[in-house]
Amino acid sequence: MTARAWLLVAACLLVLLSCTPAKAPPIERDYPLTKITNHVYVLEGPNQAPSRENRGFSNNPGFVLVRGGVVVIDPGASVQVGEMVLKKIAGVTRDPVIAVFDTHLHGDHWLGNQAIKAAYPKAIIYAHPKMIEAIKAGAGERWVKIIDQATQGASRGTAVVAPDLGLDNDDALRLHGVTFRIIHKEPAHTDNDIMIEVAEEGVIFLGDIVLNKRITVDFPEQGNISGQIAAIDAALKSKAIHFIPGHGPCGGREIALSQRAFLVALHTAVKKYYDQGLSNSEISDRLKNEFAGYKDWVGFDRLARLVSAVYRQIETESF
Ligand SMILES: [Zn+2]
Repeated sequence: MTARAWLLVAACLLVLLSCTPAKAPPIERDYPLTKITNHVYVLEGPNQAPSRENRGFSNNPGFVLVRGGVVVIDPGASVQVGEMVLKKIAGVTRDPVIAVFDTHLHGDHWLGNQAIKAAYPKAIIYAHPKMIEAIKAGAGERWVKIIDQATQGASRGTAVVAPDLGLDNDDALRLHGVTFRIIHKEPAHTDNDIMIEVAEEGVIFLGDIVLNKRITVDFPEQGNISGQIAAIDAALKSKAIHFIPGHGPCGGREIALSQRAFLVALHTAVKKYYDQGLSNSEISDRLKNEFAGYKDWVGFDRLARLVSAVYRQIETESF
């Protein structure tokens, strides 16, 4: 090639590089895999909000070994988290990923879809139809930005890969010999949460309907506290004995019960003081003390925000 041609190539590369942000490096920290049953594994994320330090990894991606394949639940906040999940799967089986379930629209749970589709283009990604609609309307790109900002660029290179097919309440999918039953109650954490019961394994993936020792910061979008309690009740009616929260350590029914007790106590207290005519900030001040027992829960410092959200819901319901 002539010097001129080389220059041209270099110029093109420069243009390309300036248009495509470089992909951030992989996550090197080795998070331990938790074996829930003989066929179900969870990679428990740090029980924190996505940050530079945790590189956005804060949820509980899970996977289920089915006959000749793997089914992933919530592959995480970025392409880097998704690749880490794939590495963990490779440590257990060489079978391909055949399907993915995304529990809801919040990007810390599903932006890892990209990594799964890149490695297994034939894998089918399932979610609630309202999540798919919201992504079509641009919510996915907004989530890429939110995670990019929270991680200060550690998720760079992540792109929206939307779910392929919608699933709704009571749908049951049999994938290579294993039954995945969908529970959807609306509105709950959002208007598009699905919980996934893996029937033969006695496991239920709860998404953010249930968090372990962590306070939902607020009820974003179409979320609702009474609806979330109803969704927890539906999960408790399942036959599952292993409960996988969206964030925080896995366990049994006690996780769902403790999340339920917190939400019921909060709703009852806000309603009581609302009926007594107290203002939003007066209620917040009181509950900071009355709920001191929850001080060790992640996000307790943002209780006031949650109280405001519940206050607004009670106000709306009273009209
Ligand atoms: Zn969420």
